[in-house]
Amino acid sequence: MPDSEQFYKDKTNGVGNESVYGDLLQHAAKLAHRYLGGIAVRHAGVKAEALHNLSQLSGPLPSSGEDPKSILNLLDDFGSPATVASMGPRFFGGVVGGTFPIALAAHWVADSWDQNACLFDISPVAAYLEDVVLAWLRELLCLPSGAEGAFVTGTQMGDVTALTAARNAVLRKAGWDANTQGIAGAPPIKIIVGEEVHATMLKAIRVLGFGMDHVLFVPADGQGRLKPEMIPRVAGAVIIFAQAGNVNTGAFDPFVPICDVARTMDAWVHIDGAFGLWAATSPLKRHLVEGVAAADSWAFDAHKWLNVPHDSGIAMVRNPDDLLNAMTINASYYPEPTAKREPMQWGPESSRRARAIEIWATLRFLGWEGVSALIERTCDLASRFAEGFRAAGLDVLNDVVLNQVLVSFGSDRRTTEVVARTQAEGTCWCGATVWKGRKAMRVSVSSWATTNDDVDLALDAILAIAGG
Ligand SMILES: *Cc1c(COP(=O)(O)O)cnc(C)c1O
Repeated sequence: MPDSEQFYKDKTNGVGNESVYGDLLQHAAKLAHRYLGGIAVRHAGVKAEALHNLSQLSGPLPSSGEDPKSILNLLDDFGSPATVASMGPRFFGGVVGGTFPIALAAHWVADSWDQNACLFDISPVAAYLEDVVLAWLRELLCLPSGAEGAFVTGTQMGDVTALTAARNAVLRKAGWDANTQGIAGAPPIKIIVGEEVHATMLKAIRVLGFGMDHVLFVPADGQGRLKPEMIPRVAGAVIIFAQAGNVNTGAFDPFVPICDVARTMDAWVHIDGAFGLWAATSPLKRHLVEGVAAADSWAFDAHKWLNVPHDSGIAMVRNPDDLLNAMTINASYYPEPTAKREPMQWGPESSRRARAIEIWATLRFLGWEGVSALIERTCDLASRFAEGFRAAGLDVLNDVVLNQVLVSFGSDRRTTEVVARTQAEGTCWCGATVWKGRKAMRVSVSSWATTNDDVDLALDAILAIAGG
């Protein structure tokens, strides 16, 4: 083994030498700049050749380390072609946002800080900005002023976090302390979901040990909205899941009647608002989330519609004590509880990155008006897609109320073919789904970077393929 001090000296040109980071970061910035500079004109997906060339990144671990710049060059040469162009203006797959320049830049600054957002004393700025951002989000998203939250990887973990709080709270009401008595032998909990519930919610249910036998599915209407009049009245501990923004249609469950029914059963209502909750920021779309504040918990993403880097989601719970009950840990090596925010006491993770920083920067950059403009503009662009498809005589399968469009090209086989050929052609990237038994292309407009021209370019490409 080499002498470790000499090893790092050889590798880095000297620890503490200012140019150590500088040279490498400048090189990284150059590569990033080039990548982003070409993002609007490159293939929106990944070519077969790029997949093949990924093998250049494998092979045995070298016995002696390599030069950092050449490592970055390898990533640039063979890694970047195997990325989808979700940072570009014509990536409409999944519900995947891009990243605002300010969000990326703040992310870089925060990366250079490499803060561990576990405790206030370990990173005062990370903890402090969580409080600032949560206050802004409560206002922007029309959530109760007393709600508390946690910064998590995404809505999936947001659901797990909120559902843990929900589980413990409904059991506590039934005279059972889940933290000490556990789940085995606990009073049964019924979970009520709409039949179009997002798959990640069902995973959260399984992860927490509920079992699918305890889930009651409520029929949904033609847009995927849970029918509140069909919610079964059940006795005992009940948790109801509703969603803001169906991942296919963009439709919203009717929160007012759902929360009314829930109240009669003393049930906990959790809302999956991964992207749809952001509709609350727009005066034109706010009616879609009417009643959202009456729920008990919410989970939503920043990495989708707010266009900040992955991974970034938030769980919010109306009653802070319910979240603390589920997530607090104590040990001699952690500080005594004080008025300061201790991030790890609110969420499932201990050591983690400081996710609030780029959300803070992005919200400041946009302001109130900018956030609602982002939501409204992407919704308008989705409508432009729908109009273009309809004008070409195609079947748009959903009411385009948000940023989601489902289009069929005739038979399922034909639709599958058009989606595959669109992905291969590369002007834009759209995924496939099945809606009410029909195969559809799913177009989601989630990026700040998309313009009218991008929609027109994408429409031209898709319609040429569909007509060919
Ligand atoms: C994306 C999505 C999720 C999961 O969110 P992640 O950020 O992937 O964890 C849950 N629900 C809906 C409606 C979604 O669109």
